[in-house]
Amino acid sequence: MTLTSLGLPAVGGPGRPPLGPAPSSGPLVDTYGRVATDLRVSLTDKCNLRCTYCMPAEGLDWLPGEALLSPSELGRLLRIAVTRLGITSVRFTGGEPLVTRHLEDVVAAAAALRPRPEITLTTNGIGLDRRAAALRQAGLDRINVSLDSIDAAHFARITRRDRLGDVLDGLAAAKAAGLSPVKVNAVLDPASGLEDAVNLLGYCLDHGYQLRIIEQMPLDAGHTWQRGKVIDADTILATLRQHFDLRSDPQPRGSAPAELWQVSESAEHPAGTVGVIASVTHAFCSACDRTRLTADGQIRSCLFSTEESDLRALLRGDADDADIEAAWRTAMWGKPAGHGINNPDFVQPARPMSAIGG
Ligand code: SAM
Ligand code: SF4
Repeated sequence: MTLTSLGLPAVGGPGRPPLGPAPSSGPLVDTYGRVATDLRVSLTDKCNLRCTYCMPAEGLDWLPGEALLSPSELGRLLRIAVTRLGITSVRFTGGEPLVTRHLEDVVAAAAALRPRPEITLTTNGIGLDRRAAALRQAGLDRINVSLDSIDAAHFARITRRDRLGDVLDGLAAAKAAGLSPVKVNAVLDPASGLEDAVNLLGYCLDHGYQLRIIEQMPLDAGHTWQRGKVIDADTILATLRQHFDLRSDPQPRGSAPAELWQVSESAEHPAGTVGVIASVTHAFCSACDRTRLTADGQIRSCLFSTEESDLRALLRGDADDADIEAAWRTAMWGKPAGHGINNPDFVQPARPMSAIGG
């Protein structure tokens, strides 16, 4: 893969441009000219599901409690991100963010920042029926609920837990609380994925949810991902077209990872939209605007980073805000051109998705 094939400026020739020091002010920029404005915050590595593409059935060690950022440490980093680094959008994720009891407080702390960032949540939806209204009240703007199948047996096989009803209740509560548009994230299982995609889209159209189907990436705990088993975006779209009339969405895509399609009204379903996120087959790294913070206070410039920058050590030392800002800027300055999944020398990160934050 070359910089040109990624659509990136070929600064300094075909390899990485000379690094030099990161700028000390202005936007959170990398050496390829990309600006990070979207912060993904993992609140925990724990989860109440065990999705096959993310976690092992058993035997994954949790981060020890003292390793996790406290709410006040996290609040300080959020303030630095928004007031000093130009972050305009914060997404809370995990692990499962709803297993953290202080989620509403963290959302409220983010909502109190000025300029106020957009605040979103990615969740598996379990327990959301009881918390959607309070999260909305705390300042949550939008939500993505992960759901890979509306077939109870398929759901239980994929997530290794029989919790489909809880997720559907959570989705309904999110809609009732006004967290619109409610988005549904789906990763397709090689065994049943195409059938699941068709039924999920029908369900989402009927309920007014916006479905986003994501190509499965090599971020599973067992490192068993195989390129040849991924149900790719082209196959997903070809299958959906057999059942729905899809038209390309006229809105410019910008840095959004999903390619959007408008779904025409039919005798069976109302009109709506569907997105396909081709993270593997049509990487969108050249437009990436993300920076990531793990639950134990490490900055990752990319989902697939093999290097991290330790902000927790700075927080717990005597670093001032300017020191932390500088470390964050340096971490992002070295962001790689692309994830490299399709390169022969690709190395999967040691942390599984549940410990990075998707
Ligand atoms: N537990 C929450 C959930 O499932 O929504 C938040 C964390 S989860 C890691 C965030 C998103 O990452 C989910 O939509 C999930 O489907 C997606 N994800 C997890 N592992 C993935 C993989 N190997 N490839 C692509 N997406 C993945
Ligand atoms: Fe848990 Fe989300 Fe990973 Fe599934 S994808 S195991 S719900 S963290």
